[in-house]
Amino acid sequence: MSETWDLIIIGGGAAGFYAAITCAEARPGTRVLIVEKSARVLQKVKISGGGRCNVTHDCPDPKRMASFYPRGNRALIGPLHHFGVLDTIRWFNARGVQLKTESDGRMFPTTDDSTTIIDCLSAAADKAGVEIRTSHGVKDITPIDSAAFTGFELTMHRQEPLRARKVLLATGGTRTAAGASLARTLGHNPIPAVPSLFTFNIEDARIDGLAGVSVEHASARVQGEKLTTDGPILITHWGLSGPAILKLSAWGARELHARDYSFTLEVNWLPGINVSERFHKLRTDWGKRQVSTRSAFDAISKRLWESLVGAAGIDGECRWAELPKAKSNKLAEYLTRAEFGVAGKSTNKDEFVTCGGVPTDEVDTRTFESRKTPGAYFAGEILNIDGVTGGFNFQNAWTTGHLAGMAIASELAAK
Ligand SMILES: Cc1cc2nc3c(=O)[nH]c(=O)nc-3n(C[C@H](O)[C@H](O)[C@H](O)COP(=O)(O)OP(=O)(O)OC[C@H]3O[C@@H](n4cnc5c(N)ncnc54)[C@H](O)[C@@H]3O)c2cc1C
Repeated sequence: MSETWDLIIIGGGAAGFYAAITCAEARPGTRVLIVEKSARVLQKVKISGGGRCNVTHDCPDPKRMASFYPRGNRALIGPLHHFGVLDTIRWFNARGVQLKTESDGRMFPTTDDSTTIIDCLSAAADKAGVEIRTSHGVKDITPIDSAAFTGFELTMHRQEPLRARKVLLATGGTRTAAGASLARTLGHNPIPAVPSLFTFNIEDARIDGLAGVSVEHASARVQGEKLTTDGPILITHWGLSGPAILKLSAWGARELHARDYSFTLEVNWLPGINVSERFHKLRTDWGKRQVSTRSAFDAISKRLWESLVGAAGIDGECRWAELPKAKSNKLAEYLTRAEFGVAGKSTNKDEFVTCGGVPTDEVDTRTFESRKTPGAYFAGEILNIDGVTGGFNFQNAWTTGHLAGMAIASELAAK
């Protein structure tokens, strides 16, 4: 006879833990088990945010918050009204974790250490009586509806089968087939996963040797697509990164995948600035100065300026008053419409996520219960919900995990 639980949560990540704690706290005595296929739980929390864990984003307004999710934005507005950023902050505060906000809105534990979040979730799960089994991978799920038992039987990779009245799938991004195939067994049609939040590989003399140089307010556009973003752009050893590039990779995750990450990127290092007018003025104001010696714009560092001036064919001796029109135009082009050939992508080390997963219209977004198989629930990245970088992906895990956990507790109480 299989061991029987009230709720089994498949996946010991952020969403799984949050749902487990919520359910067990809301209905003390509920028998909740988290099964995790790997040897350790909360591994992504550990490495998240460069080891600091960007828990959420300082954006209490649900509608605005939802606008940061390229997939799932409309579906998340309602859930964020029920459990949003302020609820997350209060939840962690109540368990002794203080969060701080950085100038760009990202929120981290004041310790700047993801272990704080892991310890908090682990202690809360323990206190609520949640049982955790690692190295327990789920192979298959079978809904059972008999006179004796209504629920699910889980076939494990290595252990005996388990039974649960309710099951929650929190297996994370569906890039590996496991989570998607479990969802398919329950009648769902997961959208094929592709990466989101990556950086662009570019080999180009204009940015060669400039790794670490950034421009605070730039904009970027993918030629041939309706994809434009703005924000900081960072030059790396491999090409371009920074919030504007990561946002572009998120909003264009599907289109860029379809192009096999080979496309032309147009960068405006100086959006909103009239470069020709400035050049015109400098011809008189700085007439005797060499063009290359000082950046004409505060936003452009000396190193980037020198590189662009050199690439425009302007030699070191050339003075502003003598700058040929063609070269001045070339420099203006490199500053405001610089074309870069992107050839491939690299993983962003601070945060990445998959686009795709269980479509939100296949679940009831008030409870995150399956519309295909009642009694089964979803939370976190397994859903076709993903945000740009900045704490949005964990907020999705907290919001969906919380609502599913509450709904399961009340369903269990009703029967
Ligand atoms: C390097 C990195 C840094 C990140 N930093 C941030 C950040 O700072 N802020 C932010 O908001 N987001 C960040 N993210 C994204 C965020 O980590 C994820 O969106 C979030 O962890 C998703 O939570 P989840 O619980 O849905 O899935 P996961 O955290 O992926 O957890 C799923 C768990 O399910 C287990 N599992 C899978 N299949 C099975 C199975 N068949 N049986 C049993 N267990 C199974 C997996 O082993 C895993 O432990 C980062 C991601 C990465 C990769």
